[in-house]
Amino acid sequence: MTTIAFIGLGNMGGPMAANLVQAGHQVVGFDVVPALCETARAAGIAVAGSGSEAVAGAEVVITMLPAGKHVLQVWSEIVPAVPAGALLVDCSTIDVDSARRAHAVAAAAGLMSLDAPVSGGTVGAKGATLTLMVGGSPDAFARGEPILAKMGRRVVHCGEAGAGQAAKICNNMILGISMIGISEAFVLAEKLGLSHQALFDVASTSSGSCWALTTHCPVPGPVPTSAANSDYRPGFATDLMLKDLRLSQEAARSAGAATPLGAAAAALYGRFQEEGHGGEDYSAIVRFLRDGRGLA
Ligand code: NAD
Repeated sequence: MTTIAFIGLGNMGGPMAANLVQAGHQVVGFDVVPALCETARAAGIAVAGSGSEAVAGAEVVITMLPAGKHVLQVWSEIVPAVPAGALLVDCSTIDVDSARRAHAVAAAAGLMSLDAPVSGGTVGAKGATLTLMVGGSPDAFARGEPILAKMGRRVVHCGEAGAGQAAKICNNMILGISMIGISEAFVLAEKLGLSHQALFDVASTSSGSCWALTTHCPVPGPVPTSAANSDYRPGFATDLMLKDLRLSQEAARSAGAATPLGAAAAALYGRFQEEGHGGEDYSAIVRFLRDGRGLA
């Protein structure tokens, strides 16, 4: 049994922390929203009055927060209270530069750390089927891997500090671009009089096949579990796709990489969100393309 502090008990963090309790660990949690602390208590998580109180006595500290600024603020606040020898892990999706700065905050205090963003959404968080992409030293990874494995199905060591975040945003940039490409193909097929099913049957077994098509097919019918069959209720919300695409563009600028399709995807999803569709599944972009609004 390991004593784990878990800070950020929201849509993802709450169920992830509950899975650590289920796995037999002692979890002390904290969130700034009192109602989330009460839900966590019902799941067997001991609730602390602050982040610093939660980490006192922890062997592993996990954060699951909205963005880089929250992670840097919380890590700076808690690090003085983290016991020597403890491991710090951030599972939030944040920009690579902030992730590296967070590692530096830990290192300055002599603490090991990992960035370990996740893929799999709230369903994966509840079912402990997430994929965790991990950046940090081999020693830190060896220490954290058995704990991370209780929250997911795959734990991949991607490299040194920041490599987990880099893998996450590169993967999601592929996903955003793929979804737009697939949606354009369905809209073109409609204009050409080709049925959705016929395009799916061909593309899903041909060179056009990809995960976004076979799992998140943006038109109703071919993949019964895709959000298109339930009026584009997420699933994976446009807001979150846009967040990840914007992170990819920040990283591309900072690293000097050319990502013209990533930039176009971020711009298109940005316009879609501005029109009030941030809460819809990201596959709803097909409707934006179909009615021509994506042309601006
Ligand atoms: P969320 O907003 O539900 O949870 C974040 C929690 O952090 C909130 O409950 C908030 O109150 C808490 N928080 C903020 N500042 C705090 C502080 N100073 N101290 C303590 N708690 C604080 O968000 P989420 O959906 O759980 O996502 C968390 C992270 O995981 C994000 O970075 C997101 O991009 C990433 N992510 C989300 C999904 C998803 O499907 N929701 C999937 C993969 C990755």
